[in-house]
Amino acid sequence: MIAYLECNFVQENDTESKPYEAVAGLCKELDRRGRIAYGAAAGQAGKDFGGMNSLMPLAFIRPSGADDVARVVRAVASSSNLNLTVAARGNGHSINGQAMADKGLVLDMPSMEDHFSVVKMSNGSAYADVSGGALWEDVLKRCVREHRMTPRSWTDYLSLTVGGTLSNAGVSGQAFRYGPQTSNVTELEVVTGKGETLVCSETENSELFFSVLGGLGQFGIITRARVLLQPAPAMVRWIRLVYTEFDDFTRDAELLVTRQQQGEESDSFDYVEGFAFMNTDNPADGRPSVPLHPDQVFDPTRLPKTAGSVLYCLELARHYSDHPSIVDMGVNRLLAGGLRFVKELKFQLDVEYEEFLLRVKHSEDHAKASGIWDSPHPWLNLFVSKSDIANFDRVVFKEILKDGIGGPMLVYPLLRSKWDDRTSVVLPKSEIFYIVALLRFTPAYPNGPSFETLVAQNQEIVQYCTNEGFDFKLYLPHYRSQDDWKQHFGNQWARFGELKTCFDPMAILAPGQKIFPRIL
Ligand code: FAD
Repeated sequence: MIAYLECNFVQENDTESKPYEAVAGLCKELDRRGRIAYGAAAGQAGKDFGGMNSLMPLAFIRPSGADDVARVVRAVASSSNLNLTVAARGNGHSINGQAMADKGLVLDMPSMEDHFSVVKMSNGSAYADVSGGALWEDVLKRCVREHRMTPRSWTDYLSLTVGGTLSNAGVSGQAFRYGPQTSNVTELEVVTGKGETLVCSETENSELFFSVLGGLGQFGIITRARVLLQPAPAMVRWIRLVYTEFDDFTRDAELLVTRQQQGEESDSFDYVEGFAFMNTDNPADGRPSVPLHPDQVFDPTRLPKTAGSVLYCLELARHYSDHPSIVDMGVNRLLAGGLRFVKELKFQLDVEYEEFLLRVKHSEDHAKASGIWDSPHPWLNLFVSKSDIANFDRVVFKEILKDGIGGPMLVYPLLRSKWDDRTSVVLPKSEIFYIVALLRFTPAYPNGPSFETLVAQNQEIVQYCTNEGFDFKLYLPHYRSQDDWKQHFGNQWARFGELKTCFDPMAILAPGQKIFPRIL
């Protein structure tokens, strides 16, 4: 194995022996413990969900804990003349190679030893300490099944890792109420780019804490997170309401997400999302994508004559643990306030809480069976301010994407005040902004369009937003030049750079983000 390291790496570089020995010695030891893979066996680390990039690492390492992570980072940091980098890989669900390290070392975070404990405080609050490489679906199952507790803020899909989503934000229909996942952790254990293992929180090493949250893996590797919990409900009333007019859809969505701002916390939905869909019978992105159960049918004759080619759906959920008649009353009260959905096109289903949170798993199974799970996914995620969302709808949904995208087009409002502005995430300026997620699922070329065509369409959308001077930011951002990153971070760029120098001075971490070149 070390021979592999030598022929793929050392001979390419005019190295002094010492740094090489540090890395080679560590690799040898990891090899002895069966925790390192080279060549074809490391292949998984050169792929991601986006399926548009492939950069092979020198080695794929399965750390057993934070100590292994720290030793790898220290060895890489001390190898200044080897041009070596290191990427933590969550579940590789990035789109643009963000978790890859070209001829570097990739750490397989889910292989870290299981770390899970729940603590209930005397003041009634509770938290779970979980590994940075844990999958959110496992966190959910353990919290609910062992403790009847649950994290408050989620992503739609849960085969993502704790460290991976916290490095971005972690957004779903609960974020209007509790903020993104980055607003729902109180402590982290982080291995910095210097190889130091530090515990950080709002009061301890706070600069590191806030920079790592939404920090795109640039400042440290999250090895443990303390996640806020609340009691888990037994059931969820899951509702979908159809709209023909974008104005009505946004008006109602904003009304529902701001209710709790007006002191009506207990009297709001627990989850508010929305999506645009095509007024066609295409199962992937048309009317059949709306019903919640195979027994439910979308009857297009129920649509008013004025319905256009793009329709909208508000997706809501209300938790309950008592008799369904109680949730009926609550939901009826919340829907009574003159909401403007098409009354004959309301779908609802009662499901167990865990099933609701794992709802995307069914789509994953279908997509795997049909092969589109493994096709390229040129996805685009944006945050667009409330003031620009009507124009976005007019041009992007109704013109550029008028033929659909073969998958969900999420669009729903979030509240800036629920995000902590000390984290590294950058947002539009307005209090209400929309997340737009274009989750393209099309068969691989030649059965579908080439991914280059779809990437060009994404670029057209971003260019349109830029040309119109929209107040918007990319979520899960991806840029090729540092100038673009400067533009993205705006007046937070200087600070981002200072923090990089402080916590990862050799710029060895998360090279796949392409923000900072490795310092030699
Ligand atoms: P990876 O893709 O492996 O890594 C992402 C980045 O974080 C890389 O730069 C990596 O180096 C770094 N990183 C990974 N682990 C760590 C760590 N422990 N410490 C520091 N840095 C680390 N996002 C949402 O917000 N809401 C959603 O509803 C949502 N749904 C999704 C559904 C699907 C099917 C997919 C594919 C993605 C979805 N995402 C969603 C995006 C998801 O949040 C990102 O892909 C995110 O990167 C997490 O994926 P991952 O754990 O596989 O991380």
